[in-house]
Amino acid sequence: MAWSNWSGSVTAPADIARPQSEDELAALIRRAAKVRATGAGHSFMPLCQSDELIMGLDRLAGEMVIAADRKTARIPAGWSIKKLTASLWAEGLALANQGDVNPQSLAGAMATGTHGTGVGLGSLSTMARGFRLIGADGDAHWCNETTEPDLYQAQRLSLGMFGIATGIEVAVVPAFHLTERIEKRRWGEVREGYDEWAGQHRHIEFWLFPHADHVILKTLEPCDPCDPPPSTTDMEETSFRRVLDVAVRLPFLTPWLQRAMMKTRFDGHRRGPAHAVFPSDRTIRFEEMEYELPRAAGLDALSDVVGWIRKKRLPVTFPFEYRTVAADDIWMSPMNAGPVAAISMHQYARMPWAGHFAVAEAIFRSFGGRPHWAKRHTLTRDDVDTLYPMAERYRSVRRAEDPQGKFLNPHLEALFS
Ligand SMILES: Cc1cc2nc3c(=O)[nH]c(=O)nc-3n(C[C@H](O)[C@H](O)[C@H](O)COP(=O)(O)OP(=O)(O)OC[C@H]3O[C@@H](n4cnc5c(N)ncnc54)[C@H](O)[C@@H]3O)c2cc1C
Repeated sequence: MAWSNWSGSVTAPADIARPQSEDELAALIRRAAKVRATGAGHSFMPLCQSDELIMGLDRLAGEMVIAADRKTARIPAGWSIKKLTASLWAEGLALANQGDVNPQSLAGAMATGTHGTGVGLGSLSTMARGFRLIGADGDAHWCNETTEPDLYQAQRLSLGMFGIATGIEVAVVPAFHLTERIEKRRWGEVREGYDEWAGQHRHIEFWLFPHADHVILKTLEPCDPCDPPPSTTDMEETSFRRVLDVAVRLPFLTPWLQRAMMKTRFDGHRRGPAHAVFPSDRTIRFEEMEYELPRAAGLDALSDVVGWIRKKRLPVTFPFEYRTVAADDIWMSPMNAGPVAAISMHQYARMPWAGHFAVAEAIFRSFGGRPHWAKRHTLTRDDVDTLYPMAERYRSVRRAEDPQGKFLNPHLEALFS
């Protein structure tokens, strides 16, 4: 059966293999000329695409092993964030931060620098402490800061090019509870206050429909233990779907629809275990581009993009999402030059997105932005070299690990061969 990513924009004719043991996985890798690993297929770029073989790790046998100091745990790499965080919770542990959703695999999320929001909190890649990889020759080995340090550095944000991960050692923290607050605020007020508020909340983010004057602001704060919150699948998604169905047929109504929608109440409050409060349900398919910008430039860049959409009355039907992520030292991380504002631009999957994304991408680039590797971008090999001083070292590790380019596909070959 043909493979497709979550949004439906990337498909592949390749066979999908779901090995249940490392030996089975190694034999498949040895036999293949080309192979790509996949997790939940949540990436919008053609990262998992392959004409020959796609490897799913969700059925691989394995157990979680918690270190004696309870600061790290070894996890089967194909486990979803949902399964991982529920298992950690049962042991009184948690991940320090999570993204918007939790079906992604741990390996897939780390491979692309997936992140949540919080000025003091880095991406999931920063939580990696070691990887067990099956290489292009089918042999298994662990890498970490001291064993094969260059491979480890590259593997922290790997795009799946350095081997197939079967196990990951990840940093964990004591379990904690969160209280979530959602409120409607004027866009002008948020522009003024966001940077100050970001320092006051463990997690803060907002969504801005480009044609509306109000934003939806969300904060998460640690709180006392409490019961799990009710499920998030919701009235809002149902009414939003109706709005989108109108916009597909009558795109010129988008500005009016968004202003009308933002007249409704958005206030909300829920509490519960962190792993149950971090993720939301995302049942409406969209396409997404995300740029990470130097934090000081984020709000100006967003204003420019939104100003252009308003001026042209463009039918960009989904809200922008604005988050903050801490700096890191990962070779190919868009956070490696300092803390960033992460701005996601979405479009309903049934509506045109490429032209809108292209203009916005040029604006984000003009503010010093670098794209999220899993989300739509049009970087060339030269762009990669300009934006990432460590790109050539990353490529040389890749060449040493996989001289025949077994783990490359056309998209990655253009950037990293
Ligand atoms: C609804 C939705 C919400 C999202 N929310 C966020 C968010 O809040 N924050 C954010 O930063 N991103 C977000 N993303 C992006 C998403 O987190 C990334 O695309 C992530 O990589 C998806 O994980 P996955 O398991 O689906 O990986 P896939 O998309 O399947 O694969 C991603 C990469 O990982 C590699 N890979 C997968 N498994 C392995 C393995 N075992 N060994 C080696 N390489 C492997 C693949 O080859 C590929 O290069 C979201 C995407 C969607 C669709």
